[in-house]
Amino acid sequence: MKNLKLAARDARPRTVVQVGGVSVGRDLVVIAGPCSVESEAQAIETAEAVAAAGADMLRGGAFKPRTSPYAFQGMGLAGLKILEKAKKATGLPIVTEVIDPRDVSWVAEFADVLQIGTRNMQNYALLKEVGRAGRPVLLKRGMYSTLEEWLNCAEYILSEGNPDVILCERGIRTFETYTRNTLDLSAVPAIRELTHLPIIVDPTHSTGRLSLIGPMSLASVAAGVDGLIIEVHRNPAEALCDADQALTPEMFSAIMKQLRPMRAFMDTLPS
Ligand code: PEP
Ligand code: MN
Repeated sequence: MKNLKLAARDARPRTVVQVGGVSVGRDLVVIAGPCSVESEAQAIETAEAVAAAGADMLRGGAFKPRTSPYAFQGMGLAGLKILEKAKKATGLPIVTEVIDPRDVSWVAEFADVLQIGTRNMQNYALLKEVGRAGRPVLLKRGMYSTLEEWLNCAEYILSEGNPDVILCERGIRTFETYTRNTLDLSAVPAIRELTHLPIIVDPTHSTGRLSLIGPMSLASVAAGVDGLIIEVHRNPAEALCDADQALTPEMFSAIMKQLRPMRAFMDTLPS
């Protein structure tokens, strides 16, 4: 891909993004938690449950980019303060979305990783701002975007001086309606060929179906991902956002028990 300079595969050795004690690009890293922060009890109970199941980082949105302006938009600053408490309670680093360039510098004070959602992948003002924020960035693939467009967005962040970009395949729009999106698993080995940046998969937003999250998580590990980001809620029925796709802590724990053996098995295969 001719436009890529800093993101190109040969520009540097494989990037390992260090988030506290977690090494994204080396270990299999699992980020889990609710779609959005809804209350202190909801966030902390869910955080404790995912930590107990072996998650490495906590996800939770305080700013939600919703399709409808009338849907719950997130708790904002109050949500970030709750995430800070959840981090204290569990020790898990926080992954949280930022949707407005004006908010980046202060959201970065709460976030260990700044998430750029699919709808904002090509928000160049936002990309430049997170490029200067001094925090690792989780860059989700735009739901209508090619790999080249996605990697050029990573290039925006790198070119502002931030080397810590984690790519996240979260499904693309196709004609299929049974799943919420279509998980493009071929993106994982393709991205490995094209860039040194780590790549994770979001089996939650890509499928939108509880029964598919476990199988696609295993398939992602087989495809060579560096990690997964999975939505979990202490009580999915009460979730204010994406209730139909949130795993219970028990379901999440069952998937976790399969992931590391799968990764260990992959490591035994001849190369
Ligand atoms: C999310 O992870 O909370 C989210 C909104 O995902 P996406 O941007 O992939 O839709
Ligand atoms: Mn969600």
